[in-house]
Amino acid sequence: MPPLGRAIIQNTAEKIAVEAGYTALPVCPKTIAEKHDILVQAKPDAAKGCSGMLVRNGEQFGILYATHIRSEGFQRFSIAHELGHYFLPGHPEAVLKNGIHQSQAGFVARDRYEQEADVFAASLLMPADLFKGAMRKAGDGLEGIIALATAANTSLTATAFRFAELTKDAVAVVISEGGTIVSCGYSEKIKNLAGRGAMPWLYGKPVPTDTLTARFNAAPGRVAAADREESALYMTDWFGLGDGVRGSEEVIGLGGYGRTLTVIRGNLRTDDDFDPEDEADDDEYLADRWTPRFRR
Ligand SMILES: [Zn+2]
Repeated sequence: MPPLGRAIIQNTAEKIAVEAGYTALPVCPKTIAEKHDILVQAKPDAAKGCSGMLVRNGEQFGILYATHIRSEGFQRFSIAHELGHYFLPGHPEAVLKNGIHQSQAGFVARDRYEQEADVFAASLLMPADLFKGAMRKAGDGLEGIIALATAANTSLTATAFRFAELTKDAVAVVISEGGTIVSCGYSEKIKNLAGRGAMPWLYGKPVPTDTLTARFNAAPGRVAAADREESALYMTDWFGLGDGVRGSEEVIGLGGYGRTLTVIRGNLRTDDDFDPEDEADDDEYLADRWTPRFRR
């Protein structure tokens, strides 16, 4: 079976959340599993690399989720990932050949079924309509992402990627570990930095020197202490693109994971933002162009 398109996966997940009656965050994957007669149990002795399992015994399905990562957000994501294998077309046949499937949830696996189940999990826990509704109240940048993670009861990492996918602002989210970039997500608007070209592929690349993230990751203890800092930047510092475009870089240590979340926002204006009929828009445009954005 060919890989499933992103839109099909997201629509499948969001339809299931809507049918389960959710009209606001958070969505509970355990409740959804119960509605579909799937047994859900914690599995304290799960091997470290395994986030959860989907098990089939005749017509009965069960989900076991690992607890070695204590974060409730991660455990909920793991359950939602297994639900992806249950609901997505072609998955049960492909992953349950032996009646049992061991997962690596959390955007780390290269296997297509694992990636598809991760996309499903993010959309099930953060359906676009509900998430956008919460975004309007949550604020911008890292502060907004933290508020949304609380509202959706999801991990900061999963929330940050969903935020980048759905925000109208020019945002990049980057996960790094030490001097290396582990993953990166771009909002639609930030892609304008690249014009007709493509934004740089940052996976596995070094964290650019002379950025707040590089200094933050090099300082002992700051990541583990879940420390936080913000600084102004030029977008070229990170992407080598967008000469003279200013922005901000916000950094938070992800504690025991040893990783860092960076949220980069560009003060980018595109033609679609500008409505010449709208005087307020005109003022906002000028204010945005001329207000110095260097904040501490
Ligand atoms: Zn899996």
